[in-house]
Amino acid sequence: MLRNAFLMGLTLCQMAVAMAWGRDSAHAAMHERCFSSSERSQELGLFDRLQADRARHAQPVPVPPRFHDALARLKKVARIPNGARVELVGTHSGSSASVLSSGVIFLSSRLWRDELSLDREEAAAVIAHELAHLELSHVKDRLCEAVAAAGNEQIPLAAATRAARQAVWSGDDQLAVRMMQANHLRELQADRRAAELLRLAGLPGEAVGRMLLKLARSDGGGYSGSHPALESRLENLGQAVSAR
Ligand SMILES: [Zn+2]
Repeated sequence: MLRNAFLMGLTLCQMAVAMAWGRDSAHAAMHERCFSSSERSQELGLFDRLQADRARHAQPVPVPPRFHDALARLKKVARIPNGARVELVGTHSGSSASVLSSGVIFLSSRLWRDELSLDREEAAAVIAHELAHLELSHVKDRLCEAVAAAGNEQIPLAAATRAARQAVWSGDDQLAVRMMQANHLRELQADRRAAELLRLAGLPGEAVGRMLLKLARSDGGGYSGSHPALESRLENLGQAVSAR
């Protein structure tokens, strides 16, 4: 009897593992098809253009020359994807920086305000981090993650993002953890590549850690739950955690 129960338990357990594995492999295949699809790239391009136009018309904020100088230098060593055109757009919203797949890099004016004011190398580190996201097609990766989570390959990207957000809000903890882990991996990857890009451009790679530290000291630098903790990011860069 006990043996039967044990065997049954084992079988159920194996079934659960097989089902989870099946779900994971289906999820990975769906993500991969979305990520390699040129139609999805075009869709993303349209989506990005609308966002960029809205930001440009809302409040164009001049970006200090040190950010433009850094971009000119880093562009020579970065592998910018075909069709992307990198440009800097200053904004009063947000607390740090972000990038669209079209190459528009949004920079919050907070990055050059007195209390934070990144120096030349730290400014270059911000640009290098965003260029790394662009090189690695992280925006598309994140949106395709949402498509795979929706389990519907026909769903528009914007709707997939909304659906994923709603699922997380309504308590899908597994999805929340999966998306957070994917975000963290992308950030750690971008930090490492940023340090590499800085070195390739003849700048100190350590500036990435200095920039992260400065942003975190200020008020968290917009690195909320979607970003790994400062300690993990410094460790990922091979820098001493005691630098804090
Ligand atoms: Zn990032």
